[in-house]
Amino acid sequence: MSFEKKVIIAGAGASGLCAAIAAARDGALVTVIEKTDSCGKKLSMTGNGRCNLANLNLSSDDYNSESRGRMKNWLKRFGVKEATDFFTSLGLVIISENGYLYPISGQANSVVSVLVNECKRLGVEFCFNEQVKEVIKEDDGTFTVRTSTDSHCGDAVILSMGGLAGPKTTGSTGDGYYICEKLGMSKKDTYPALVALNAEDDTLPKDSGVRALANVTFYIGDEVIAAEYGEVQITSKGISGIPVMQASGVVAGHLSKGRPVTASINFFPGYNDDEFDNLVKTMLELPGERKLGELLDGFCNSNINEMILKRMKISAGMKIRNVGASMVSCILYKYRNLRIEISGTGDYKKAQVTKGGISLGDLDDTMQSKSVPGVFVVGELCDVDGRCGGYNLQWAWTSGYIAGEAASCL
Ligand SMILES: Cc1cc2nc3c(=O)[nH]c(=O)nc-3n(C[C@H](O)[C@H](O)[C@H](O)COP(=O)(O)OP(=O)(O)OC[C@H]3O[C@@H](n4cnc5c(N)ncnc54)[C@H](O)[C@@H]3O)c2cc1C
Repeated sequence: MSFEKKVIIAGAGASGLCAAIAAARDGALVTVIEKTDSCGKKLSMTGNGRCNLANLNLSSDDYNSESRGRMKNWLKRFGVKEATDFFTSLGLVIISENGYLYPISGQANSVVSVLVNECKRLGVEFCFNEQVKEVIKEDDGTFTVRTSTDSHCGDAVILSMGGLAGPKTTGSTGDGYYICEKLGMSKKDTYPALVALNAEDDTLPKDSGVRALANVTFYIGDEVIAAEYGEVQITSKGISGIPVMQASGVVAGHLSKGRPVTASINFFPGYNDDEFDNLVKTMLELPGERKLGELLDGFCNSNINEMILKRMKISAGMKIRNVGASMVSCILYKYRNLRIEISGTGDYKKAQVTKGGISLGDLDDTMQSKSVPGVFVVGELCDVDGRCGGYNLQWAWTSGYIAGEAASCL
């Protein structure tokens, strides 16, 4: 008679593979059910194909989560050190680029391979092209996992089916939400996050537009809802770049409630108020017979100059003297506060992560459902989303490993 726990894992993505290894290393018999035909489809496209798998600068502040305190505890139990030790134990060589961790191979597929190889070594069984449809708790405390083609029995179930973000080919269709809700768990509203923001504004530059280091602050009326610094990209469709993506989940939440959001871009992030005032004074001392366009040539990027003049409805060919000092000054201050009304966000297909999901309040400290003990919820399916920079995969490893260990010794 065997006393090994049988753990069923729904979803062979980042969190599911990590959970499978943790459970199997602790002696559980593990079956992973995956609806596509292979493991880690999304994982293999992360970090532009290089997989930014974690970040040396890790704290609970890097996450939007309903519970900072609990995030802190989870990251203490399985943080960046544990994640790097884990991957090192799989034979993956990791390099740091300013704290951003990547496989030295430069290939996200290496990360998928080492995870799958370890699963195979530990005897994890894989069932591909099987979509989990329902999880049923039986009277004897075991679980039946009903799929599109079969059913599987286990002592514990880990739901690691991801969210809605990314191309549909990666299997991100949000199946986990209705399965959890059917089990009585609650779901926080979901939005695309780490995604570009749209604007309908005919003064935006054409095509791929312009990139610039800037501060971007997002407002609802006078209230600041997010503020970020980094390389902003302004295109004919709207704004993107890392600082915009970082704020996108928060912006999406407000837009969905009908609250109009405005972005204010400051193209002179290194200048404080006094320094900028002095800079404007210096610019105003330039000879008045020069054209406005000539003054702006040395001031900022030509695409940004064009955009601002278009907004101000002023020709670059006008002489500074004719424009007048107060108007020139008004134009120059626009570079510190270029306001763009946000009309929407990119869709889930273009997003890197889902904001919202299964409420952490429904889960205990091992990611186990409080209402259905024996069922665990991990990864993007939970109401946790991180910043760009390896934080979302870190959450997949953290939650997956903690749940895998706990499920194996229920
Ligand atoms: C283009 C892109 C780039 C990214 N780059 C990075 C990066 O560099 N660093 C970073 O930290 N994060 C990155 N992310 C985010 C990161 O990929 C996710 O946070 C992470 O993959 C989530 O892991 P997961 O295990 O929760 O879900 P997933 O990795 O999405 O895995 C879920 C798995 O469950 C399967 N599944 C779904 N429904 C069912 C079902 N009903 N039955 C059976 N199986 C099912 C899916 O097919 C899939 O295999 C990126 C995301 C995208 C889209």
